[in-house]
Amino acid sequence: MSGRAYTGRVIETAARKPALFLDRDGVLNEDQGYVCRWADFRWIAGAREAVADFNRAGWLVIVVTNQSGVGRGYYTEAEMHELHRHMQADLATLGVQIDAFYHAPQHPDAVLEIYRHPDPPLRKPNPGMILQALADWPIDREASLLVGDKASDLEAAARAGIRAVLFEGGDLRAFLGALSLP
Ligand SMILES: [Mg+2]
Repeated sequence: MSGRAYTGRVIETAARKPALFLDRDGVLNEDQGYVCRWADFRWIAGAREAVADFNRAGWLVIVVTNQSGVGRGYYTEAEMHELHRHMQADLATLGVQIDAFYHAPQHPDAVLEIYRHPDPPLRKPNPGMILQALADWPIDREASLLVGDKASDLEAAARAGIRAVLFEGGDLRAFLGALSLP
């Protein structure tokens, strides 16, 4: 086998992929406040197409979403997972997918004690969800990008060493295309 001495390094480098980290509410779907039911879910224009573009370009697509509605008792984690299953099923009709969802159900004011934490490490602007994804997946950190609609999203990315851009509405695919991404 030629080049054997370099095989390990080559594979390690080649296996790392850029990741598109996406906030959920306000980036993938319209933020109506504590969205938890598929019936109320509205994709942002161009969001599914953006996921498709990045899938096809070989990027990982990873959602990082604060879900304090769980801690506040507005809906359960099971209901949130069900919503995410609906999102995936809808994306599957386009032959694409979100590779992983990370959620932060904790909140300082959570009514449910198991979700109450004074400064939840997973909750943006803390970088915990992104750091967990970096530990779980072979991600090329320097090539990755986070798209968020709040300063807390951008702060979490900065603290995880991921570049980030603020999406202020409109068509997500067009927004990323204007940045020459993917
Ligand atoms: Mg948001």
